[in-house]
Amino acid sequence: DTIGANLLRAVAGFGEREVLVDVPSGRRWTYRQFAAETEVLALGLLALGVRTGDRVGIWAPNCPEWMLLQYATARIGAVLVNINPSYRTHELEYVLRQSGIRTVVAMPVYKTSDYAGMLAEAAPNCPGLREVLLIGEESWERVLRLGQLRDPAELAAVEAGLTADDPINIQYTSGTTGFPKGATLSHRNILNNGYFVAELCGYTEADRICVPVPFYHCFGMVMGNLAATSHGACVVIPAPSFDPAATLAAVAAERCTSLYGVPTMFIAELNDPGFAEHDLSSLRTGIMAGSPCPAEVMKQVIERMHMSEVAICYGMTETSPVSTQTRGDDTFEQRISTVGRVGPHLEVKVVDPVTGATVPRGSAGELCTKGYSVMLGYWEEPARTAEAIDAEGWMHTGDLAVMDQDGFLAITGRIKDMVIRGGENIYPREIEEFLLTHPDVVDAQVIGVPDEKYGEELMAWIVLRPAAEPLTAEALRAFCTGRLAHYKIPRHVHLVDGFPMTVTGKVRKVEMREQAVRLLA
Ligand code: ATP
Ligand code: MG
Repeated sequence: DTIGANLLRAVAGFGEREVLVDVPSGRRWTYRQFAAETEVLALGLLALGVRTGDRVGIWAPNCPEWMLLQYATARIGAVLVNINPSYRTHELEYVLRQSGIRTVVAMPVYKTSDYAGMLAEAAPNCPGLREVLLIGEESWERVLRLGQLRDPAELAAVEAGLTADDPINIQYTSGTTGFPKGATLSHRNILNNGYFVAELCGYTEADRICVPVPFYHCFGMVMGNLAATSHGACVVIPAPSFDPAATLAAVAAERCTSLYGVPTMFIAELNDPGFAEHDLSSLRTGIMAGSPCPAEVMKQVIERMHMSEVAICYGMTETSPVSTQTRGDDTFEQRISTVGRVGPHLEVKVVDPVTGATVPRGSAGELCTKGYSVMLGYWEEPARTAEAIDAEGWMHTGDLAVMDQDGFLAITGRIKDMVIRGGENIYPREIEEFLLTHPDVVDAQVIGVPDEKYGEELMAWIVLRPAAEPLTAEALRAFCTGRLAHYKIPRHVHLVDGFPMTVTGKVRKVEMREQAVRLLA
């Protein structure tokens, strides 16, 4: 199927059911209305001269127009380019030029982001950019009017020429380890991924999925939107960008059955001062993904948020994104200590990063995945694509993993974050988990910093409980002594209020390492 064909199939099955609810504006769409509006928008884009294969950018926080455009571009085979809503002109220009965007749709202004202003500033440096359509303004309304005047047969003809392997989407990675890379994805890649995520969550047309994660990222647009529409379920937008109180309120008001988030979002919701006022009893399931989930958070999500079937997913932008997922009947232990088993129609293996040989079960190595989900490639970066996907089609994830006898995978870190101190391989994750057992430590991140004697030394960044006495490096080391091997005890300790983060809520260790080098100089 193409995404458009799949949407039309959903209309045939679930036409009068809701597909989208925007809580801030109170607007709602049934499948029938949604398909009709994407048709008008698709015809409007055709009227502007947008053709199959052209790149159309979207630069906005979560809003209904984002999702309408996602399906409208898919229906004409234009390649939707997701632009990170927290970008500024420099990064915007990079994406506009790198992916050769012809038409960009943007929210004019949101909070401190003047998207229209930044686009006006970047446009002269982007010769390929033809139109800027500002949502809610005349440029956008005009496209809808143009679309209404066109003959729907024109769209049907375009749709008939599309195939499932056409590129449909460029998604930039989170930029956790460096500059974001544009993964080019096809209908087959992301539609299947949304479908299987939904299958493993057991979605039906009765499900209402609260999506506080960004649409611009695969978590929102694939695991949210495409998972929902492949099963007749409904997407609920609680707020344009993450707001814990608004999320809880939306779950209660819309009787959501599923809630998404990265672990830090669930932590914010659980600690929201108004938590107890919201009736969350409609929740059954949800997805936590993107970074490791502490056991205590998982426990509270199940007990206090009623999400008894909550799943942990592991994946990456380049693999559409999900590769492994826990199932509703996996044990609590499996759900806190692993990222589940490989998804349907996918293969995984764990290899020695140096020799490429598959390692025995129980040993750490680089995780590789293969199957329908592997991207077409990095947009116009054949060399980087060849580094990531080998000749046999295996995507080398850059993540370290261990597979147990039953096929459950545990992610133990990223190859790039591994610290080599005096020849010993150190996995920061293990030390971070240990530091969290200190009664005054709320959050901890461990990085490697250059060291003359050992090559690298460990540095711990610590967030203390608000009322706690400042912790010295000596005191922290004393706490570790006897419980961690001597080489795993952090030499440097840095007290902070928080860590540099990506918009997808991940800690940017690259940036921490840069800052650390300056701190220690
Ligand atoms: P970049 O590739 O630009 O450095 P990124 O890898 O963070 O950024 P994404 O594609 O958004 O960009 O994230 C994929 C990565 O997130 C995975 O490679 C993995 O390191 C991490 N990840 C995803 N899910 C999980 C999970 N459940 N547990 C632990 N880590 C996870
Ligand atoms: Mg990555």
